[in-house]
Amino acid sequence: MVKHSVDPNKCRGCGKCIEQCGLELWILVDIGGGKKRASVIDEAKHICHMCMSCHDACPEQAITIIEEGD
Ligand code: SF4
Ligand code: SF4
Repeated sequence: MVKHSVDPNKCRGCGKCIEQCGLELWILVDIGGGKKRASVIDEAKHICHMCMSCHDACPEQAITIIEEGD
């Protein structure tokens, strides 16, 4: 399984990670106050092939992707 984390202090909801993921695993979630934050869909932990395009595209270095057991 793949675990995706977004640092809430860094993400500014620009959507660049969404544009880059060819598998369309990222979404923007409304967090109130007119702000959005990146998040992945539930299936992402099973489908993501760790190409790191989303990670590399993030101008804030907000994304961490790690492989977890099972
Ligand atoms: S690592 Fe690749 S496949 Fe996985 S969420 Fe990021 S862009 Fe999508
Ligand atoms: S590219 Fe980075 S800053 Fe932009 S929405 Fe994605 S995680 Fe947030």
